[in-house]
Amino acid sequence: CKINSTKTCLWMEDTGVGKSSIVWRFVEDSFDPNINPTIGASFMTKTVQHQSELHKFLIWDTAGQERFRALAPMYYRGSAAAIIVYDITKEESFQTLKNWVKELRQHGPPNIVVAIAGNKCDLTDAREVSERDAKDYADSIHAIFVETSAKNAININELFLEISQRIPSMD
Ligand code: GDP
Repeated sequence: CKINSTKTCLWMEDTGVGKSSIVWRFVEDSFDPNINPTIGASFMTKTVQHQSELHKFLIWDTAGQERFRALAPMYYRGSAAAIIVYDITKEESFQTLKNWVKELRQHGPPNIVVAIAGNKCDLTDAREVSERDAKDYADSIHAIFVETSAKNAININELFLEISQRIPSMD
């Protein structure tokens, strides 16, 4: 077995979209409704097996707040993938996501894999962003797209699996 090590940067401008909850679900397979808001950035790792390869994710969960904005390039510059999270119940979070995509395209590594996660898909009654619109947008920028629920463990492993499949293996 070989280990592919991948640094994945996870962020969105807004706090509250569920970035930390997604990482927590992926790494610990649990959900804590009282999770602390991300301050600065936290770091976690998880190794998953895909076919005959081990894939180690080094995950930076960054705070998207405006005051930390200047720090963002520190994380995405060395990353193989970026997950940008929005909240399907907040149209505004989907609009700000588009600004991050622009920033990544302009200043990020040229081959960075971009994944868009529409989180809180368990809250269907409060939905403000349609799955179709988000998928069309993601397709137009060649990004991976999934709707996730960190709370109900929907599509979290699938999100990371898709990312590992898109990242070329380092022989
Ligand atoms: P972050 O600031 O983007 O890291 O967001 P957090 O992970 O701190 O989550 C913000 C709030 O949204 C918390 O109250 C979470 O319990 C809640 N939350 C996160 N993911 C989900 C989800 O998939 N479904 C629901 N219903 N709530 C969620």
